[in-house]
Amino acid sequence: MPSIEVLSDQLVNKIAAGEVIERPASVVKELVENSLDAGARRVEIAVEQGGTRLIRIVDDGAGMDADDLQRCILPHATSKLRTEDDLFDIRTLGFRGEALPSIGAVAQLRILSRQAGCDAAHEIRVIGGRHEPLTAAAGPPGTTVEVRELFYNVPARRKFLRSAQTEMGHVTEQLARIALVQPGVEFRLLHNERQLHHLRSAEGLRSRIADFYGKEMADSLLDIHRDERGLKIHGLIAPPADSRSSNKWQYFFLNGRFIRDRFIAAALREAYRGLMEPSRHPVAFLALEIDPAVIDVNVHPTKIEVRWRDSNTIYTQVLSAIRDRFLNCDLTNRLTAAPLFASSPTDRSRDPVDHHSLTTVEHDVHDTRSRQIRESIAEYFRRVTPTVGAPPTRLDTSFPSVSAATSGGDFTADLTAAMPAPAMKSESAGQPRMNLALESPPLGNIIQIHRSYLVAETPDGLVVVDQHALHERVLFEKISAQVRSGPLESQRMLIPEPIDVSPDQLAVIETHAETIHQLGFELTPYGPNSIAIHAAPTLLREGRMIEFVRDMIDRLTVRESPAAADMLLNDLISMMSCKAAVKAGDPLSVAEMRELMTLRESVERSSNCPHGRPTSLRFTLNDLEKQFKRT
Ligand code: ADP
Ligand code: MG
Repeated sequence: MPSIEVLSDQLVNKIAAGEVIERPASVVKELVENSLDAGARRVEIAVEQGGTRLIRIVDDGAGMDADDLQRCILPHATSKLRTEDDLFDIRTLGFRGEALPSIGAVAQLRILSRQAGCDAAHEIRVIGGRHEPLTAAAGPPGTTVEVRELFYNVPARRKFLRSAQTEMGHVTEQLARIALVQPGVEFRLLHNERQLHHLRSAEGLRSRIADFYGKEMADSLLDIHRDERGLKIHGLIAPPADSRSSNKWQYFFLNGRFIRDRFIAAALREAYRGLMEPSRHPVAFLALEIDPAVIDVNVHPTKIEVRWRDSNTIYTQVLSAIRDRFLNCDLTNRLTAAPLFASSPTDRSRDPVDHHSLTTVEHDVHDTRSRQIRESIAEYFRRVTPTVGAPPTRLDTSFPSVSAATSGGDFTADLTAAMPAPAMKSESAGQPRMNLALESPPLGNIIQIHRSYLVAETPDGLVVVDQHALHERVLFEKISAQVRSGPLESQRMLIPEPIDVSPDQLAVIETHAETIHQLGFELTPYGPNSIAIHAAPTLLREGRMIEFVRDMIDRLTVRESPAAADMLLNDLISMMSCKAAVKAGDPLSVAEMRELMTLRESVERSSNCPHGRPTSLRFTLNDLEKQFKRT
């Protein structure tokens, strides 16, 4: 083994940089935090080429004198920590004295600073770890830090950098994590000299959310406040009906610092359990304040995680804060306006608090409403001749093989009133005989149970079908096939539907214009912060369409790898199938059940839904006989 050597400062800094400086966004985080620690009221961030060419932060904070300027670039040099005790009473964002030397080790760093009340300004440079002498300079009070050519001397790191646009997305995200809870500070963010955000001071959390994520989201949020057992909680949360397909919109802050935390996340999940589909995620911006003495923020290099002395209090207080809010507001109205959600009755009965009664009420109201609608439609079709203009079912009727099966158009789900109109597909040539009974089962041999499963008799036993999983699978195959041969069939909107988006989402939409077009959408920019939906695929019902577009944008925004275009399309198709399919909990008419069972035969691989769950279970007579010990 070679002998042991103590590493040079330059090398130590470069290693430290690996932990703290991962990409341009990390530089922005460290520098803006320094500005805030210096008491800045205005911070301007100018970025070029996603931050790889230049990141310049100008603040109006306390500034540094010549001595401090010379010291600030040394490893473990900080003005924020004096004694060991201070480590357990951290009230600043920084304290480790690592950021500036780390940045200086992997880029060309220039710091210009003038202390408030001082006439003289000074400047210092560090080029790839090499310190240059301090010089006198001119500048306004405050500090300007310029970082050029990030990772120019670390090719391994540079390789991991993404496109300027992606890096800029990270920078914006980083700014959001800081600015959302610094309402007193004015921020400006520019990319290649174009202004992306201008956040004025004295704006609250809600208006900053509007700035980053759109007014629509901001307006829908409910505010929460709680101050108990030494923990202050305030924030904004979305009603359960406005859930999202990813947890990207869950922001937790502790004493003004963005953190990730599994206890807060668990409390949030628990608060929404039973109020939305299990695969969805709540939107929540939660700011916690607690005595710094009861936490340890020094457990992670970028301080994104903390250690609590009493995690139980955190969990129960966050949970109670959200539950109390739900109990004190009229979720009923909001939820009835939203699409069906599939909370199973068992979920609700397991729920320890009383808000389950609220969901039950909601369910009943919803049921009554949809029953009334169904009845009036049925009534209408009882009056008109059943042969022309059969009512569309919610299943996809454009499959040629099934049009016959739907022409009876029954919405009453009443077996005796149903118009039989047997499926004609059995006449098609070349089908194996075995399947015939399944394709056109005699009426009465399919039933729906628990509004979620279909049970159908087959020649050799029975099959139990998960209605949502099967329909999703059917749609997935159909959409995939159509997309391969051209854009999905779409329908123009009478009135374009606007949706709020952030500037980086707008950029993502432009990048993926082709994919979006293939999926049957026509989206155009509509003002600086929104898009308009001009056309949408016919198979998405109206309520689902906006939800899908939001989910699609979310998905396009979080996706990193540009290589897997096919995978992306596949993901989107599977999301669309899920949105367009009937849900567990949707009552199906006899015609719809028939249609679904017929469609089942028309797709290959129909035994698994796109998520890989099975769509149907078979039981043969043989199985049954064994179970009943007949054999
Ligand atoms: P830390 O923030 O952990 O103290 P840094 O390396 O980020 O470590 O900064 C070192 C020191 O430089 C800080 O403690 C602070 O005294 C000084 N400093 C850095 N940036 C600024 C700024 N924008 N304004 C005033 N002082 C600054
Ligand atoms: Mg710092």
